[in-house]
Amino acid sequence: MCELNAEEEPEQLNTIDFRKLAWDTELDNNVNSLKKLKLYFPLTEEEEISIQEVLDNHPMNIPRYYLSLIDPNDPKDPIRKMAIPTAEELVVAGQMGETTGDPYGDDKHNKGNGVLHKYPYSALVVATEYCSMYCRHCFRKRIVGLPNDKTVENFQNAAKYIAEHKEITNVIISGGDPMMLPTSVIAKILEALKNIEHVNYVRIGTRTPVVYPMRYFDDELIKELRDFNQHKTLYIPTHFNHAKEITDLSKEAVMRIRNAGITVNNQAVFLKGVNDSVESLVDLMTGLTRIGVNPYYLYQCMPVSRVRHHFQVPLKRGVDIVDEAKRHLDGYAKRFKFIMGHDIGKIEICGRMDNLLVMSQIHSRPEHPEEASRILMGELNENAGWLEDLDLI
Ligand code: SF4
Repeated sequence: MCELNAEEEPEQLNTIDFRKLAWDTELDNNVNSLKKLKLYFPLTEEEEISIQEVLDNHPMNIPRYYLSLIDPNDPKDPIRKMAIPTAEELVVAGQMGETTGDPYGDDKHNKGNGVLHKYPYSALVVATEYCSMYCRHCFRKRIVGLPNDKTVENFQNAAKYIAEHKEITNVIISGGDPMMLPTSVIAKILEALKNIEHVNYVRIGTRTPVVYPMRYFDDELIKELRDFNQHKTLYIPTHFNHAKEITDLSKEAVMRIRNAGITVNNQAVFLKGVNDSVESLVDLMTGLTRIGVNPYYLYQCMPVSRVRHHFQVPLKRGVDIVDEAKRHLDGYAKRFKFIMGHDIGKIEICGRMDNLLVMSQIHSRPEHPEEASRILMGELNENAGWLEDLDLI
């Protein structure tokens, strides 16, 4: 497969058999410039100018498969909103309040070699900063897709840190998207963790089952995952946000992972214009249980710069949507927790009593163990979207 020449007519997306494409060379056909995007989508002059301005700040990268899910005649298509930049991304201040580049406090907990150690029992390793698609709502937007010397050059050093910290019971290999690494590199990473006795299980966080399912048609990858899972339990947390992402191909990718004995959990993000309705949450969670993916988290969109003002759903409205959706869902489909991934720890949003939001902190930072499992209550206002916007009582 050769790289798309922007001077040529692009292949019709609905005629491509993505199942037959080699995952690594197909990446060369990703839509990553305004010039390529224009070949597939009619854009107004105004749109072109603002998209180019966004691209000067944050790159675009859309696999042709994911692009094929967009209805070009629907400007409000939810897949389009997650993949194609808009002028809204240029808004850095708005009615939803302050924003930050690092809402989850990653930098504070960076132990070097890509290791983030936020909770005593979990270590997260940023294994790469490349993704098959750069989601417009990404909370690691400040690093993803940008050249960054924090990328792990030697995973052995990260594994050494984990081996020396016996309180670590589980490891999350994250990024970027670790499944973009060559299979041989993934195998080496897993090998380095295989014999660390105190690590009970490993997670590989990846959006590839959703945006790049072709990755799982690599038999060698499936073999490596299966082999590792025989030694230590492996989980794949993924990130479906909309029922439109559940396709024959993504279903098949999930099936190949599950046939290797690996559990797939979903961590969706609650996004305005994507899944902020009862119907869309019900369709998403029901669709996930149908393909054997466990609904695990629904994240409140973080106050990320160039993300918050066009993606965050106010908590008052959001909690009502989630409550109503749960009324329509069966037990397995409503297992997910509605979560604020806050710098002080994970906070479950339990519900509201009139204007009072009821929350439960489910993890705390090591320096504040007394905060774990506490109940929090805060006064809501119409625009509150994050913990700091609430008057805590
Ligand atoms: S795949 Fe994940 S890390 Fe990569 S841009 Fe999307 S949300 Fe961010």
